[in-house]
Amino acid sequence: MNNDVEKVLYTQDQVNQRLDELANTLTEKYQGEFPVLVSVMTGAMIFTSEMMKRLNFKLNVDYVDVSSYEESSESTGKVKLIQDLSHDIKDRPVLIMEDIIDTGHTLKYLVALFANRGEKSIEICSLLDKPDRREVDVEADYVGFKVPNEFIVGYGLDFDGLYRNLPYVGVLKRSVYEK
Ligand code: 5GP
Ligand code: MG
Repeated sequence: MNNDVEKVLYTQDQVNQRLDELANTLTEKYQGEFPVLVSVMTGAMIFTSEMMKRLNFKLNVDYVDVSSYEESSESTGKVKLIQDLSHDIKDRPVLIMEDIIDTGHTLKYLVALFANRGEKSIEICSLLDKPDRREVDVEADYVGFKVPNEFIVGYGLDFDGLYRNLPYVGVLKRSVYEK
């Protein structure tokens, strides 16, 4: 599995250190706010659970599942809701946890969806950001790392369902997805 990785962008230690910093910022910001943390499955699974352990305030955790990439390395711009929230978010602060913002279509869709339900506030926390690829106007409020325009795997991010369990953030070899 590791042989399919071209290079490591952020090691497990580097990610851990950055998550500590992000969690400190969020812990200050959300004290007494009682937000619903919304994990965007499946990519944000590891990021969400690693962050949750570090967040020192009362929260509920929920998740949505959306499809975008559909087993290829190119985004289609179409977002489909596969699994909705189980919490009522009316008058609640919502904090979306995402693995990576690429074109921005997924988050734009989710922000619009939640805004219809009377949430108190909405913020986005993304492990990774690929700003060069943005097609719609959406930015994260908190970002772990900016990454170059390459295909990223590991720490929850997959190619064709694989590599999510790599404990670091890396770039997949072209030869793997251009096969
Ligand atoms: P967007 O809607 O912003 O274009 O894409 C968001 C989703 O596309 C992310 O949640 C992620 O699942 C997927 N994605 C975008 N870029 C990458 C990437 O470099 N690697 C992987 N594995 N997934 C990506
Ligand atoms: Mg995703």
